[in-house]
Amino acid sequence: MSVAHGTPLAALGWDRRLDALFAEHAARGLLPARVLSEQRGSYQVAGPTGELTATITGRFRNDVTRAEDYPAVGDWLALAPAVTGQALVQAVLPRRSRFARPARGDIPGAQVVAANVDMVFVVAALDHDFNLRRLERYMALAWSSGAEPVILLNKADLCQEVGERLAEVRGVAPGVPVYALSARDGSGIEPIEPLLEAGRTVALIGSSGVGKSTLVNALLGWQRQATRDVRADDQRGRHTTTRRELIVLPSGALLIDSPGMRAVGMWDVDEGLASAFADVEQFASACRFSDCTHGSEPGCAVQAAIERGDLAETRLHSQQRLARESAALARRVDPETRANSRRKWKAIHKSVRNHMRTKYGPEAG
Ligand code: GDP
Ligand code: ZN
Repeated sequence: MSVAHGTPLAALGWDRRLDALFAEHAARGLLPARVLSEQRGSYQVAGPTGELTATITGRFRNDVTRAEDYPAVGDWLALAPAVTGQALVQAVLPRRSRFARPARGDIPGAQVVAANVDMVFVVAALDHDFNLRRLERYMALAWSSGAEPVILLNKADLCQEVGERLAEVRGVAPGVPVYALSARDGSGIEPIEPLLEAGRTVALIGSSGVGKSTLVNALLGWQRQATRDVRADDQRGRHTTTRRELIVLPSGALLIDSPGMRAVGMWDVDEGLASAFADVEQFASACRFSDCTHGSEPGCAVQAAIERGDLAETRLHSQQRLARESAALARRVDPETRANSRRKWKAIHKSVRNHMRTKYGPEAG
């Protein structure tokens, strides 16, 4: 479904924070718009006057120093209104969250594949491919994005031990809501309906084959059935040749389903490791040495917790393995870029920690 003509900005996810961020651009007569899709430097966007096409200027290209400065699906832009032809991108508003992957080509930094995602559905399948270690990896990625993670265990129809699996998953994803469902037959989808709030931006990550497309179709199909006028709107056929990667669900939630999101892998996850391994971190805060490596140091509270059986040793190993992998990846990008991006992400990280503290008390996060 396309974003309807004249859609109020709130329906696209606009909020007070953006109001404040946009003030300087509004003063210059620029218009806000959100990126629905990107194709070779041309952006399909939606703003207060409906959909239009925007492009970046030569000057924008010159000013760009890092791959992540380019607009991505979900970004909010400040546009110079088009007199004829395409609107021109003047600025990309600061992102609340982002998914990225190492950029190709000679420009340093990360390529952002989705921006301003509020909630990320981490999809795993309850089939023979079910793997807690892989799920931990996706959780680190999810937490690092700045979006709020929710775990969806799909293909529950193929699993005889759903209860056990739920317990195992809760054990490796402290504080994260977990749902079991079957995208194929639709069972268990209803409980996630309240998550699809109007104006909230959601995205899906997970390995190929876990059922992300099936789930997207189920969400669309199931919601379409419940919303007649939306279907009517669809039949008017306001289509362009570009495939939209930010879709408005009939509930009013905004779903990002882009090929780029399918390709996100391990990238800069150390920002999310503390949250993804909040259980390990909580014990670690009681280690005698603040730089304890949880090896054979005296007074290691993590090793003590493992010995008592309060913490699975695999959790510590997973955290250490992911930290090593993330550090190795980080060395591949320009260190200065990384320093900049770390500063920018500190604030987001802090909000994640606060979230953990609200959930677990002052020790967490
Ligand atoms: P994606 O790569 O994550 O987008 O996965 P797809 O949506 O393409 O699904 C991969 C395969 O799993 C397809 O054959 C689907 O029909 C199947 N599948 C998806 N969801 C379910 C489910 O809930 N139960 C079962 N049994 N199969 C499913
Ligand atoms: Zn220790």
